[in-house]
Amino acid sequence: NSFLRLSGVHRHYGEGATQVRVLDEADLAVESGELVALVAPSGAGKSTLLHLCGLLESPQAGEVEIVGNKTSQLNDRGRTQLRRNTVGYVYQFHHLLPEFSALENVSMPQMIAGKTPAEAAVRAQELLDILGVGPRAAHRPAELSGGEQQRVAIARAAANHPRVILADEPTGNLDPATSDIVFEALKNLIRTEGAAALIATHNYDLARRADRIVTIKNGKVVAHTL
Ligand code: ADP
Ligand code: ADP
Repeated sequence: NSFLRLSGVHRHYGEGATQVRVLDEADLAVESGELVALVAPSGAGKSTLLHLCGLLESPQAGEVEIVGNKTSQLNDRGRTQLRRNTVGYVYQFHHLLPEFSALENVSMPQMIAGKTPAEAAVRAQELLDILGVGPRAAHRPAELSGGEQQRVAIARAAANHPRVILADEPTGNLDPATSDIVFEALKNLIRTEGAAALIATHNYDLARRADRIVTIKNGKVVAHTL
């Protein structure tokens, strides 16, 4: 059950002699409940791949499918709608709203999507519990540690039941012990929610805890080997 599937994806930038070919006939499939780590050197195409998976960019050839929805024929509006309904994104920096509590930060995207504050709060508390920050629900970001802030940001990304969770260096800003805690919490969330996750990281120790590690080589997404 592949929630995220790239087939024969081609993406280059520029033309002629200065053309940069980032992805060429690239394939990738991530199943429901599976966490895939993406480890590749700077400039290899991690952001490009995440942008394609998140429907922020389109490939010049090939297909990106999210939960069986082919996206090559969608217009901008269709892509935006599908992204809103199916993709959650975790940033390196949490971007939580400082004047709101953890619970309110996780409630906000749900209320924008039409839930009542009471409905949103139930789901927010459930997610904060899954991520081990339930007791921090009433605290504002400034009252939380870095690892707690990032777990609240992950809860927010998951608020509207995304089927695909994408993260770019979600622990890039944290010390090793805290990174472990955040990564395990993320993994627990993926399992519980049955989402498909693609996590770009430079941290190989963390990547080893994923179900699978992939890298980008000669424009293809391939299994990472030492
Ligand atoms: P990573 O995230 O692994 O560092 P990127 O996906 O950002 O890699 O970039 C891959 C390659 O594509 C790099 O050589 C980069 O310079 C090039 N690139 C990325 N985005 C653009 C763009 N908008 N225009 C031109 N070149 C780009
Ligand atoms: P900006 O690109 O102006 O910084 P954002 O703050 O929305 O805008 O996004 C920061 C970065 O996070 C983006 O450049 C992109 O790398 C990533 N990003 C955000 N949303 C998504 C998404 N749905 N799918 C993939 N990548 C995303």
